[in-house]
Amino acid sequence: MSDVLEVESLDVRYGDARALWDVALRVGAGETVCVVGPNGAGKSTLVNAIAGIHRATAGRIAVNGAETTALPGHRVCAHGVAIVPEGRRIFPRMTVADNLMLGAYRRGARPGFKATLGTVHELFPRLAERSGQLAGNLSGGEQQMLAIGRALMAKPALLLLDEPSLGLAPVRVDEVYDAIRRIVSSGVSVVVVEQDVERALAIADRAYLLGEGRVVASGPAASMRDSEEVRRSVLGL
Ligand code: ATP
Repeated sequence: MSDVLEVESLDVRYGDARALWDVALRVGAGETVCVVGPNGAGKSTLVNAIAGIHRATAGRIAVNGAETTALPGHRVCAHGVAIVPEGRRIFPRMTVADNLMLGAYRRGARPGFKATLGTVHELFPRLAERSGQLAGNLSGGEQQMLAIGRALMAKPALLLLDEPSLGLAPVRVDEVYDAIRRIVSSGVSVVVVEQDVERALAIADRAYLLGEGRVVASGPAASMRDSEEVRRSVLGL
């Protein structure tokens, strides 16, 4: 069986500035992979390129064996990739229910809409309780849950999470990570970009360390925790 995600020789530029160089990454079915690295290393650029938000300058991205390299975001989504972007990007003036509904816009997600909504509400009961409220009135933790719930409404095979713990109180981070574990056990493959390296390594099967736009190290999460490069570049040890 092919990998859910294969990234080969990926370059991304912003004008003259090169943000990613020759990046290779793969995610197997049911795997959780984390991407760590210092600020500006290119982590967000990488997940945004996978999601079709940033265009690759060179290289190849394939999802379940189908090439998605040059596709725009909505078409990458149709291949089963959903992103929870950094900063959540929920629609604050819309209700929680409408935010979730927007996540199900892709054609393949529409038939099972009610069942998927039920799954999301089971995962995040707060979203069911607050269904009719404006998303902008939710707490930070609830907004993160809404952003994850909205992505799940697209019934992704691969979920990309960009800094899910950012700005949240530790107890909310625990809740979000608990939900990620349950999402993984439901069979969704996950790529998580995190500044909280310890937490990301604790949940991941494998990890990639980015530095200045390149993959500096990669391997099983357990061994990456002890890696000299990881300890120096992101743990500050
Ligand atoms: P952070 O943790 O700070 O978000 P990151 O590892 O996610 O960092 P990116 O946001 O992907 O890093 O940024 C990688 C590089 O690309 C940085 O040098 C950044 O300044 C640059 N960059 C990011 N977005 C843009 C943009 N829209 N235009 C120009 N340069 C950009």
